[in-house]
Amino acid sequence: MTLPFTLLIDPVPADSAQTEFAGTFHEMDSSAPALRVGELSTQRGDGIFETLSVVDGHPQEVEAHIDRLRHSAEICDLPVPNAEQWREAIAYAVSRVPHEGELALKFVLSRGVQSGQAPTAWLHATRAPDHSAVRDTGVRAITLDRGYPRGVAEVAPWLLMGAKTLSYAINMAALREARGRGADDAIFLTHDGYVMEGPTSSVVIRSNGVYVTPAPSGAILHGTTQQSLFEYLREQGEPVEYRDITVAELRAADVVWLLSSIRLVVAVTELDGLPLATDLPRTRAFNAYLLGRTD
Ligand code: PLP
Repeated sequence: MTLPFTLLIDPVPADSAQTEFAGTFHEMDSSAPALRVGELSTQRGDGIFETLSVVDGHPQEVEAHIDRLRHSAEICDLPVPNAEQWREAIAYAVSRVPHEGELALKFVLSRGVQSGQAPTAWLHATRAPDHSAVRDTGVRAITLDRGYPRGVAEVAPWLLMGAKTLSYAINMAALREARGRGADDAIFLTHDGYVMEGPTSSVVIRSNGVYVTPAPSGAILHGTTQQSLFEYLREQGEPVEYRDITVAELRAADVVWLLSSIRLVVAVTELDGLPLATDLPRTRAFNAYLLGRTD
């Protein structure tokens, strides 16, 4: 089977006794129309998604991505995904795509068609862009005010801050803003000056030898790549910590990295126009570890 690969899924409720899911998967011609015009995912961005990496035929962090999909569904009042069905859908897709190189496998759960009864779900696999160079060269980033204070998720849960929703227009606008200012990427700050995350990545810094990432409160996503990296660092006996990071600490960090499932770990070489130190041997070791994961 060639790429892209598309699978439409009839979602089965999480509490269903069904154990056989093959009949709920429908392979689609990726160049043919697959969604109805009334789809709320396309009309309102009303849905959630995950993107995981498949490296040489190995889907990475399947459980962490399914957990986060379930968490996003709860925040958005969507039917809770059936974990076993999604596991099987991912395994089925992986069995149908080439088993060499890096692929991006995106899976989506939308509220469905307006006035319809059921959510819509699909899975789409494409070849990942070649990130091998940027993993070594790093990126220039700017800080951007996200416009909300720290603690926003608790006082305004309807903003769905901790959910990975399909409404990524703001995240894409932030990347355009970064490019317009001569940078490659962005780091969101709360209005009161705390580090949040990138538009498509988690932030990890090394500060006085400790690897730190903002606590996964309700306002940011809990990155699966960041969780993998912390597991690796713990195994190596390195200190890791979840806590608030001020913008002053970000600027003074030994090293700043952005982490995400497909690009993996990239160092920030320049922040708001000022050079930052990097650690290429560590960055390479992190990426080698992440690329070698087999589940
Ligand atoms: N934060 C945001 C807003 C993201 O969109 C992403 C990934 O796309 C991440 C963090 C990193 O998450 P992961 O490492 O699971 O890809």
